[in-house]
Order: sequence, then structure tokens, then C-alpha cells
Amino acid sequence: MSSASSNGNAPSKIEKTIIIGSGPAGWSAAIYAARANLDPVLYEGTVKPEMIPLGQLAYTTEIENFAGFPAGNVRAFVESAVDKDRHWNLPMAPEVHEKDGQPHYAVQGVELMELMKQQALNFGTRVVGDDIERVDFSGPPHTLYPASGEPVQAHTVIIATGARANYLGLPSEELYKNKGVSACAVCDGALPVYRSKPLAVVGGGDSAVEEATYLANLKGADKIYLLVRRDQMRASKVMQDRAINHPNIEILWNTVVEEVLGDEKLVNGLRLKDTVDGSTRELKVGGMFVAIGHTPNTSFLDGAVEMNNEGYIQWTKAFRTNTSVNGVFAAGDVADDYYRQAITSAGTGCMAALDAERFLVEHEETTGTSEARPSLT
Ligand code: NDP
Repeated sequence: MSSASSNGNAPSKIEKTIIIGSGPAGWSAAIYAARANLDPVLYEGTVKPEMIPLGQLAYTTEIENFAGFPAGNVRAFVESAVDKDRHWNLPMAPEVHEKDGQPHYAVQGVELMELMKQQALNFGTRVVGDDIERVDFSGPPHTLYPASGEPVQAHTVIIATGARANYLGLPSEELYKNKGVSACAVCDGALPVYRSKPLAVVGGGDSAVEEATYLANLKGADKIYLLVRRDQMRASKVMQDRAINHPNIEILWNTVVEEVLGDEKLVNGLRLKDTVDGSTRELKVGGMFVAIGHTPNTSFLDGAVEMNNEGYIQWTKAFRTNTSVNGVFAAGDVADDYYRQAITSAGTGCMAALDAERFLVEHEETTGTSEARPSLT
């Protein structure tokens, strides 16, 4: 890492590329940047709401749709590839998946991320376990301010900070967070507070169905209510069918949550409102999982790059990852409110690294990075 100069402000070394974020976009950018001799530094994030280490996939169970990862004895492969000192972070695979007496399941979110991280490390990526709290994009070179370290500078920056889960915004929801309200069934669903109780999942997208199905499949699961605010779901047909046909899931259409009810220690119900006739009723549940979409992690940028109304970074060139700032590129969910898939994030991460590499080559005289000769094929 670059060290600070004697005045404690200006870094003594200018990096070629700094990547912010450690989801599929960040790691893919790192793999490509490292292989192109850009000697990247990647800020992995801490446990703040923004910049979760390993991104949202750290909170996801099985990934069935990432090309190249069919179900099988994935565990054996993961353990052989990931350094032993990080095996503690690998989740146990669900026992239910067996074929011919052998483990048979899709890669877990954390496993996929640990594999990507390992690949980036293998090619020499320097990983820093810190958040970037502030930026100064008046360069290039651009300056980044980590939460606990000295400022760092880079000729190119790749922003891959992803997005995070939204909540309903009810005061009662806030009161019961971690006491029966969660935005992550996979992280919290098996905790004693939720175990073997009727539960509600709010939302009508793929995430809501995924969360409801996950909860409904847990050992000893009770009834799972899926609360959909319209008379139709946004989820893909195959996911909708999964919810509709699941014996443990009941879908309550045209339904929103007005209040989370409880005894101040734990949730014991919800007050629901019918969006068609306005009537209200109480539903007895031991927990509520919110799955109503995401917010991009861009507040640390403080408007330094052009964003849309929802705060997603705008790509400024068709089929490129350029932002409105020279030398700053964006990849993954932080700039994508449409596809939002692990595989598309990984793809744009790759694109951002190639865009950064080309930028460095084009600006060789000013950045002094002639050794970053491209290997673009
Ligand atoms: P989406 O934006 O797709 O869906 C959000 C859902 O929440 C919508 O049904 C929306 O209702 C509802 N909603 C929003 N605000 C409220 C509110 N205040 N009260 C009640 N309901 C509300 O987000 P997802 O997180 O579900 O999915 C994001 C992306 O990730 C999608 O592209 C999806 O396909 C993908 N994904 C894929 C998976 C897979 O392939 N296995 C799994 C999970 C996600 P309305 O429709 O009325 O706006």
C-alpha cells in the first residue's frame, strides 16, 4: 500500500488502480486488473451497511444461475481452492442435497465470493479490510479517504460498492430490527427467534420468493406468508410457481404492512392493510423478513460522479463502464438497477478493469504507467 508523506495528507505513491468493493464486480475487476499488471489495491469494506465484505452474495445461499457452477460436490472444490485460513468463513452446505449418496448442491454465495477473492489474491491483488469514506475526484490522480488509514491516490478508480436491502420505513419495524424483523432470511431465518414460528416475507420480487422458499424449507418450518402489495408479482414465472406451489407458503395479495406488533422484546404479529378496500387485520407471526429491493451504496461519493434519481451511478458511454469523471469507472449493482445479477456484475467488473487499463495506456504520458501495457485479448 502507498504510505503517507510527512505532512500526513498527500500519499507518497500513486496507485494505477484502486477498486472499491468486494462483490463479484470488485473481484472480477481485480482479477483482470492484476493480470494486466495494474497491481490493483482492493478496498474490501468492513461490516458497515455499505461496503459489506464479499457483498450481498455473502448473505445468499445457493447460486444456481452462475454459469460454470453446476450442482455437484462443490465443497471439495472450494476447500481445495480457498486458502485454509479462510475456511472458517465457508458455510456448511445443506444436508438435503444428495445424489447417489454424494453431496450435490449448487455453490453457496460465500463460497463463490471466496473463490473469486482467492483468484484475485493468486494474481497479486492487495486487499485492504477498510471502507472508503470520502473521495476527491478532482484529478486524476484521484484521492480516496479510508476510514482508518491515510489517504490514497490512484490514476484510475473502479467503484464496485453494490447495493443494499431496503426496509419499509415504519417506526415499529425499526423498533423490532433484530428482534423479529430482518432483511435477510438466509442470515437470520434459522435463529431461535424465528424457529418453527409462522413468519411473513414482504415483497413480490425474486428475492421475496427466494426468502420465503428458504424459510419454508427450513427444518420444522411453520406457515410462511408472502405479502404482495399488488395482485401480481414482479418475480420471474419460475420463481412465482415455486411460491404458489409450495405447501408451506401462503400468498396474501394486495396486502401491505401497517405496523409490526410485539411485546417490545419480540415480534408477535403484523397489522396488515388491504390495498383494495382499505380494511385492516392482524396476522399472528413470529417474524417479518423484508425483501423489497435495494439502494445503491453511493452516499460516500457525495455526488462526485453523475447518478440517477435513485442514486445509481450513471454509465456515461454506451457499452463502457466510464462514469462522468475521467479515470473513474463503475461496475456491478452500484451502476445497474436493471439486471442486478452476480454474473452481470462480474461481467461489468471485467469491463471496468479493461476500461481502466485502456485509460492508463491512453494517458501514459501523464500517469507514467507505461508498464501497464495491455493484454486485452
Ligand atoms: P425487485 O425490485 O425485483 O422487487 C421488489 C419487490 O418489492 C416488488 O414486488 C415490489 O412491488 C415490492 N415492494 C417495493 N417496495 C415495497 C413496499 N414498500 N411495500 C411492499 N412491497 C414493496 O427486487 P428483488 O430484490 O426481488 O430483485 C432484484 C433483482 O435480483 C431482480 O432482477 C431479480 O430478478 C434478481 N434476483 C434473482 C434471483 C434468482 O435468480 N434466483 C433471486 C433474487 C433476486 P411492486 O412490484 O409493486 O413494485
